[in-house]
Amino acid sequence: MDLEIYREIYNKNYKLNSEKKNCLCGSSLNKTIFKYDRYLLKHKIVVCKNCGLIFSNPMLKKSFIENFYQSDFYRKLYNHNLKDSYKNIFSHEGDNSDNSYNFLKKFLLQKSKLNVLEIGSGHNANLLHFKKIGSLFAVDYSNESKKLANNLGIKFEQGGVSAVKNFFLKFDIIILSHVIEHFQEFINDINEIKKYTHQNTLIYIEVPSMDLKYNLDQLQNAHNFYFTKNTFLYHLNRLGLICLEHGTASGIHQYGIFKIGKSIEININNSEYERIMKIHKKFFFDFYWKYLLNFYFRMIIKKLVGRKLTSLIKNLMSKIRNK
Ligand SMILES: [Zn+2]
Repeated sequence: MDLEIYREIYNKNYKLNSEKKNCLCGSSLNKTIFKYDRYLLKHKIVVCKNCGLIFSNPMLKKSFIENFYQSDFYRKLYNHNLKDSYKNIFSHEGDNSDNSYNFLKKFLLQKSKLNVLEIGSGHNANLLHFKKIGSLFAVDYSNESKKLANNLGIKFEQGGVSAVKNFFLKFDIIILSHVIEHFQEFINDINEIKKYTHQNTLIYIEVPSMDLKYNLDQLQNAHNFYFTKNTFLYHLNRLGLICLEHGTASGIHQYGIFKIGKSIEININNSEYERIMKIHKKFFFDFYWKYLLNFYFRMIIKKLVGRKLTSLIKNLMSKIRNK
């Protein structure tokens, strides 16, 4: 489907397909910071006045989102290098597939026979790096992902977090790469994943970072949460995911390696909201004044100077000819 047609239908039905949500901290107090995503799809984004979490509100309903992922149109929309004629809908998505393995390997210490699960496995390329050290399991909504997994010998269940139970296993490694920002029932989904862990399970989570990149390019209608380092670690810690390591992935993303444990009190209230608002105001100032003004200013100068230059050259040429 063409983006223009999709946008028109999507925006018309936005209200119907979305629902109001409180912040993960429980607060209903927030401030709107964006209204559209990077494709001008309606996507109202707020920042919580209590904990500073940036999230979409209203949020797309679960039924709508699941259909969206299952249709595979989602990847066609967000994969810049993809044209309708391309057969591989996961084109280039596997380019940074070694992140999870590279960051986790120092924790694995020659271990083998591990059960490795990826939730939202997409292209399944992340998992393949773990092939030597264990058995591979994947869940994803996508039909294409299912076909790929079957060809690669990965045990696959189609669906979201709720499909993990069908493996009847506890996993040694769980990978969630660019997945939890899509969660529609964040607290339930994280609690559900915890059921399939033991005390030594390592959970690798990678998400976009609003600290490293705060601009319109980050905004996509399928993203419900936009984490900074503070809100990422705070909200996972509240749910009992204790961070062993946090860092930058692929230059613009952040990752964390977590273990299940007792949450430690981290206080980010109020100060995170104020910090985000400062970043947001700076972004708007830069966007409108430095970028847009500069753009139009240069356009006008070009027109004026361009005109003058043309007449100057014309005069010079006629003088030379008349000599
Ligand atoms: Zn909050």
